[in-house]
Amino acid sequence: MNTVYVDNAATTQLSETALNAMLPLLKETYGNPSSLHHIGQIAKEVLEDARERVAKCINAAPNEIYFTSCGTEADNQAILSAAYNGAKKGKKHIISSKFEHHAVLHTLEKLKKEGFEITLLDVYKEGIVRVEDLKAALRDDTALVTIMMANNEVGTIQPIKELAAVCKEKGVTFHTDAVQAAGHIKVDVKDLGVDMLSVSGHKFHGPKGIGFLYCKKGVPLQVFMNGGAQERNRRAGTENMAGIVGLAAALEEAVNNLDKNAEKVSKLRDRIINGVSDIEMCTVNGDLERRLPGTVNMCFEGIEGEGLILLLDQKGICSSSGSACTSGSLDPSHVLLAMGVPVESAHGSLRISLSEYNTDEEVDLIIKTIHEVVVYLRSISPVWEKIQKGEVVE
Ligand SMILES: *Cc1c(COP(=O)(O)O)cnc(C)c1O
Repeated sequence: MNTVYVDNAATTQLSETALNAMLPLLKETYGNPSSLHHIGQIAKEVLEDARERVAKCINAAPNEIYFTSCGTEADNQAILSAAYNGAKKGKKHIISSKFEHHAVLHTLEKLKKEGFEITLLDVYKEGIVRVEDLKAALRDDTALVTIMMANNEVGTIQPIKELAAVCKEKGVTFHTDAVQAAGHIKVDVKDLGVDMLSVSGHKFHGPKGIGFLYCKKGVPLQVFMNGGAQERNRRAGTENMAGIVGLAAALEEAVNNLDKNAEKVSKLRDRIINGVSDIEMCTVNGDLERRLPGTVNMCFEGIEGEGLILLLDQKGICSSSGSACTSGSLDPSHVLLAMGVPVESAHGSLRISLSEYNTDEEVDLIIKTIHEVVVYLRSISPVWEKIQKGEVVE
């Protein structure tokens, strides 16, 4: 049985280009960039070259890039730094959205326990934050606004440029978690006007365990990891050289092929949406236009998402029902609930996240298999029976 991998929002397969770029760093180029001898200095050159290339991909300067151990770390570093810097000036209010990644939401929960006040903006049925809501929520004591660029469960894209402009006018620091966006849609930090932006390598065919934080020149960044002088004293620890070089190679590859990949992937995505549209009581979640090329999230009434995922897996198809379920939790997705999807429907959610590695044949198989599995699960579902009798009303 062939594996059809359509869980690219969770992680992606390492690209051949990234792997080949990494191998020398795991073999002969093993120096520590902090060493003074020539082996160390070679590593230092490789590191700074990677930093330059990464910076170029998002239109930043090399000294605005801080490598981190993952996207989660970049989010933590950005949010904690802006929050504690704000607190020094008596600003202890933070604005975010209801459907951020847990790397953001759980960091905000920690800050709440420390006395910060958190406002989470609504995302509505479309799964998109409204600029006027941000304007209304901003206060004199707002230290930070953090809104994700693209949502990881439904794929909707947020109006980052407009949101950042509102913050700039008020002098409030703006951070965006661009982990799902980078390498998939255009990310230009100057055009977006953001102060800080998080990226993770493994979401665009780079390696796991490496990410970076863009922090605009002049925006203060607190020390996140204490120790050596790496990453301009902000993030100590010997650099993950293979990871950094792999991330740089994968990001360059993704950015160089951005339009071509987006066109291919969005066609596959739309074929899936059209292909399942004849299934009764199936809805696509979130705005249909303002979304990532590769992500689609659907709800099938009367079935459990977990059953759907497991049966699809038995047929070789790796998908997801959203991040809550991948963590083994039976709670419905906080993203879908934030978008007003009823709890019952949210239980029957399926996220397909494609990449340019997927093919038309795979999409044919996915469409056919979803039909079979949904019909089967509904045939044994007491909830579906009730819906059929009109006993369950949404
Ligand atoms: C995957 C993801 C993260 C976490 O990145 P890691 O590198 O896995 O820590 C953060 N935010 C979003 C939106 C993501 O999709």
